[in-house]
Amino acid sequence: MDIIHLLPDSVANQIAAGEVIQRPASCLKELVENSLDAGASRIQVIVRDAGRTLLQVIDNGSGMSETDARMAFERHATSKITQAQDLFSLRTMGFRGEALASICAVAQVEMQTRRAEDEVGNLLEIHGSNVVRSESCSCPVGTNIKVSNLFFNVPVRRKFLKTDQTELRNLLTEFYHIVLVYPKVGFTFVHNDEIILELPAQSEKQRIETIFGNPTRNSYTSGLVEIKTETELVNIHGFVVKPESVTRKAEQYFFVNGRYMRHPYFLKAVQTAYTGMLANDYQPSFFIYFDINPEAIDVNIHPTKTEIKFADEQTIFQILMASVREALGKFTLVPQIDFDTQGSIDIPLPSSQPAHLPQVSIDPNYNPFHSRSNSAFTTRPTSQSWEQLYNQPEPLIPAEKSYAGDKPLLTPDEDISGLLGQYGGKYILLSTEDGLLMINQHRAHVAILYAQMLSMQACAQGVMQQLLFPEVIELQPDEMVLIENMLSDLRAIGFDLEQLSPNSYSIQGVPSQLATKSPIPVLQQVLSKVRERGADTQTEWRKEIALSLAETAAIPNGHSLTEEEMRDIVQKLFKLDSYSRTPDGKVIASCITNDEISKRF
Ligand code: ADP
Ligand code: MG
Repeated sequence: MDIIHLLPDSVANQIAAGEVIQRPASCLKELVENSLDAGASRIQVIVRDAGRTLLQVIDNGSGMSETDARMAFERHATSKITQAQDLFSLRTMGFRGEALASICAVAQVEMQTRRAEDEVGNLLEIHGSNVVRSESCSCPVGTNIKVSNLFFNVPVRRKFLKTDQTELRNLLTEFYHIVLVYPKVGFTFVHNDEIILELPAQSEKQRIETIFGNPTRNSYTSGLVEIKTETELVNIHGFVVKPESVTRKAEQYFFVNGRYMRHPYFLKAVQTAYTGMLANDYQPSFFIYFDINPEAIDVNIHPTKTEIKFADEQTIFQILMASVREALGKFTLVPQIDFDTQGSIDIPLPSSQPAHLPQVSIDPNYNPFHSRSNSAFTTRPTSQSWEQLYNQPEPLIPAEKSYAGDKPLLTPDEDISGLLGQYGGKYILLSTEDGLLMINQHRAHVAILYAQMLSMQACAQGVMQQLLFPEVIELQPDEMVLIENMLSDLRAIGFDLEQLSPNSYSIQGVPSQLATKSPIPVLQQVLSKVRERGADTQTEWRKEIALSLAETAAIPNGHSLTEEEMRDIVQKLFKLDSYSRTPDGKVIASCITNDEISKRF
């Protein structure tokens, strides 16, 4: 008996949907791209419950004929290519003809569509690939497509969806990727009846300003310089941040032929162009658009993949780097650069200082050691916690050894007799039976504060310091979503935050540990770290908030310590459950053993 058979379309489409439509954001991308391909100049996106219940896209594009409207939902039905050859001259976003078929296999879809030349439009309703209604209707020219109850028939996929806030962030990220390429198209994004973004037809620069700028601050785009290079191989244009305008939060966007792409290799080219201009962990923001013959890139891009292969990547790398350097050379403090020697230019800088210092100011008078003691930290460590010290992983620097003696080096609360002092403004040195123990003061303090923050979150016992003059922090839509998520934890630590408007919060109080810092940069930094590290669950948020606040509040390296302060740090450090590494895995303490020392002589 033959056993091979064709899967019914509905089943095949569900499988394909898994590839194309992974979450509401991918559904939104497909719908908006279709509207753009249909030549729309105005596109409205209406979302409910982060796309779970409703994703609606209304455009004023070409619309479809009655037959096309039915055909559009068939698999591999497309108006965009007719032969394989067309793939090499592709200028539309879609071409596989899979999106609508995949969407209607996993949702309830209602579409109204009308072409300018038709008197009446067509209404089509499809539930899980089955047409349940098909009739004429009166509707404006264009297409209005409503996707309800996404994954209603695929419980597994539904379960994989993250919180509404996360899915909404994904939707907005996907939306940014598209709207940044089509500034001439007007867009609106509505979520649960609230207008989140209203983008009129505008220039590229204005679009960037509307999305990332903030009317109450200096214009965002005044911190950018334009880049423009035209070569036979590729045209590059766009904007890169001036080194002095770099902020904690980097926006990094590459687009090729109207499509967003990730490109780690080209990212390297941009970063290299900034060599020596940015502080250590700062990243440049950029919006860079490549225009290239479609034959020179791999067009058979999977709809969900954003990494794109170029034919001549090394050359483009050089062109891109030179282009960014040229722009920076023209507009910033970098003196004359010889552009004919691309690839090996060493950019002279006035000093080794970063052009832009971190936003978080450090108050030299701040004394973290006189903060009130916290009951959670007066418990004695268990024997298990000492074991952790012995079993700590190998340190990063092989010449040193992690402390691994037979006995604990100190008993907590005991007078720390081995304290030798501070070295290099950075390390606390202790003489122990086994050797010379070095403790990084900043990291030690991060670990101490982190533990304090976590326990304060857990019991909501943060001590708040009221601000004399409340400050207002303006946020972008995706940050508003993020901060909403983190509100209860931020409040538990001692932040007093009140939403002022759809895009701002007033800060009325801050945790006492942070009382000497400017609240806006602190909060901005927390948001950007949480966003960068991609926390999704409440527990992850808590940890990220605690860690970023601890990093911000901890005594910096380079700060000289009194003997009393050093004792305090060492004692508090050794009372922690885990003190060999910071919460993000950096080595706190390292020991040069007696053996190693005697070998040197
Ligand atoms: P693809 O975009 O890869 O062609 P889709 O499944 O996304 O495949 O769409 C199938 C076809 O339906 C498109 O080729 C296009 O002809 C038509 N279509 C889809 N959405 C729209 C729209 N908003 N306006 C006009 N035509 C559309
Ligand atoms: Mg499409």
